[in-house]
Amino acid sequence: MFDIQEIRSQFPILQEKVNGKDLVYLDNAATSQKPKMVLDAINNYYEHYNANVHRGIHTLSQVATEMMEDARKKVQRFINAKHDYEVLFTKGTTEGINLVAYAMTDLIKKDDEIIISYLEHHSNIVPWQMLCQRTGAKLRVIPMNEDGTLQIDVLDEWLSEKTKLVSVNQVSNALGIVNPIDEIIRKVRAKSNAFIFIDGAQAAPHFEIDVQTMDCDFFAFSGHKMYGPTGTGILYGKASVLEQLNPFHGGGEMIDHCTFEKTTYAGLPFRFEAGTPNIAGNIAIGTAVDFMEKVGRSNIAAHEHALLEYAQRKLLEIEGLKVYGEKANRAGVVSFNLSGIGIASDVGMILDKLGIAVRTGHHCTQPIMEYFGVAGTVRASFAVYNTFEEIDILTEGVKKAQKMLA
Ligand SMILES: *Cc1c(COP(=O)(O)O)cnc(C)c1O
Repeated sequence: MFDIQEIRSQFPILQEKVNGKDLVYLDNAATSQKPKMVLDAINNYYEHYNANVHRGIHTLSQVATEMMEDARKKVQRFINAKHDYEVLFTKGTTEGINLVAYAMTDLIKKDDEIIISYLEHHSNIVPWQMLCQRTGAKLRVIPMNEDGTLQIDVLDEWLSEKTKLVSVNQVSNALGIVNPIDEIIRKVRAKSNAFIFIDGAQAAPHFEIDVQTMDCDFFAFSGHKMYGPTGTGILYGKASVLEQLNPFHGGGEMIDHCTFEKTTYAGLPFRFEAGTPNIAGNIAIGTAVDFMEKVGRSNIAAHEHALLEYAQRKLLEIEGLKVYGEKANRAGVVSFNLSGIGIASDVGMILDKLGIAVRTGHHCTQPIMEYFGVAGTVRASFAVYNTFEEIDILTEGVKKAQKMLA
């Protein structure tokens, strides 16, 4: 049974007033709220078994290690990875992408090619640009159509033995577009030996993820966008591929044997997890997975899809309102502007006064904004605890903003 009020009651922050109004939180693509069980998991660690992991023989260290490794196994099942050591803890999607971009450096030669898409978040652009600068490789960008879809047919022409990596997001954070990653991956496998990196930051909160069926080499996402704490994330890497990479950070935890002359590295996953990790946060990612599984991932997807359709229908009733990627297959996001109102943040400020949290601006995707010739958009993004009444409040708020700014 999907009981929205019961779900909402698990999120303490949803009781908050903002500017004297009930909070309507529609900025979930930036970060989601956290249920009580996730907050409790963090507190529990600090109150009852705070100790460093992996090196102590004392009881608390063993409990902490067991809890963190248990969370790794939960994430393994959550994305259907073949092995738990293919699941690396990071501090977010950004770190996962940077880790691979840096660790791949020695595998890239001048004139090799890296392919990304027009729809990427800055964090799936800049690390690859930096890799190209270090190595002399070339960055190619899959173009976008006016409707927000990608021109993936260019891959048939572009893919070759020079292609070393293709990195695309499964769902765009700016527009909510769901990219045809199965088709992209099929094309890449058919015509190259390139690594395939999927930025799953906006997919993991909404869909079932199966990295084996998907057949990607890497899949990165952020714990904080799926009901977990900030400063947490996951990088999945196929073992046979991770084994080809150099370490990213050097330090404690990642060595096998260390002398001043030469250091040998630990095996997976520890080779890529130097230093003391975010133990509480990593444990709490496992709890966020528990939360999502308890609600049911298909329930989450169905509810959010209904919210998206309802929001789009209500918002489009407003004259002069344009939804970007209106007709495309989307998840979790409605990104829009009002005609004649050039500054999206003006709308956002009025909504904020009404207790409605949306994001305005370029959403870390300036190329997309430039494509549409706008400085930014207003973005409402959904999570499982949002309601149809909240969409009504949003719609009324947008109408009010339109009147005030006319
Ligand atoms: C949020 C986001 C990122 C970056 O995630 P961080 O948690 O900030 O590291 C990357 N890609 C997409 C699609 C995102 O939505």
